[in-house]
Amino acid sequence: AELELSKNGWLLDIEKLTLGENIGEGEFGAVYEGVYMSQRVAVKTIKCDVTAQAFLQETTVMTKLQHKNLVRLLGVILHKGLHIVTELMTKGNLVNFLRTRGRSVVNSVQLLRFSLDVCEGMEYLESKKLVHRDLAARNVLISDDNVAKVSDFGLTKVDSKVSDKAKLPVKWTAPEALKKEKFSTKSDVWSYGILLWEIFSYGRQPYPKMSLQEVKDKVEQGYRMEAPEDCPPSVYSLMRVCWEQEPRKRPGFHKLREKLDREMEKLSPG
Ligand code: ADP
Repeated sequence: AELELSKNGWLLDIEKLTLGENIGEGEFGAVYEGVYMSQRVAVKTIKCDVTAQAFLQETTVMTKLQHKNLVRLLGVILHKGLHIVTELMTKGNLVNFLRTRGRSVVNSVQLLRFSLDVCEGMEYLESKKLVHRDLAARNVLISDDNVAKVSDFGLTKVDSKVSDKAKLPVKWTAPEALKKEKFSTKSDVWSYGILLWEIFSYGRQPYPKMSLQEVKDKVEQGYRMEAPEDCPPSVYSLMRVCWEQEPRKRPGFHKLREKLDREMEKLSPG
């Protein structure tokens, strides 16, 4: 993996990197703001060598993925573990963005814009036959110019939250993935439905007040969340199709994007 990355120019020079403030905590290490050759970047550090090797493998996948709605990988640095260098998303993750601003600042056109952004990123991953496995608003980041981008794609196979059944993000994971570990684009679509709910509830925790075991049991029996306050019925019906028990009854991301385009046209024509 190292050789392949180096051949293709993805190995960056530590000397050209200036680390700045700590801007987040990842599962395997801290995330820092920084500057690389006069570009503002985010640097995710992975200290454990075994994990670093696994991530290195996965970043070779990331190098092949480029889309306006995916957080762009700039390269990696092998130095005391692994540094993953990506574009800096100055407005942080979508959950915090929505929670801190709220209804008085963010209108429904903006919510729909974020929903479309994520959908387009996922449509691209779908076209590459890539399954994300950990799609959630906490893994969507907002750029300086308010574009929502999916992060952590391609890395989820080494992410213990997803490879270790006990750590699965239960409230976002489709029933067939929870029960039989059947992950697919259609299980990502389920998660996308939860993400839509998070967006239109301005960053609330899904299934408020329910325990994980309760969520597992109730969802299996057909329970679904109600529409968030003031959510357009057409958007809620999109959530509901994403939450079809049967994966093949759920739409793909291409179909979802077409539906969202039509919603956007209704809400903000032209
Ligand atoms: P993990 O997936 O290991 O939990 P994340 O990649 O979600 O770690 O990073 C943790 C936090 O760091 C994010 O919620 C976000 O606030 C911040 N962060 C991560 N990547 C970036 C980035 N490219 N730009 C800005 N902030 C980031």
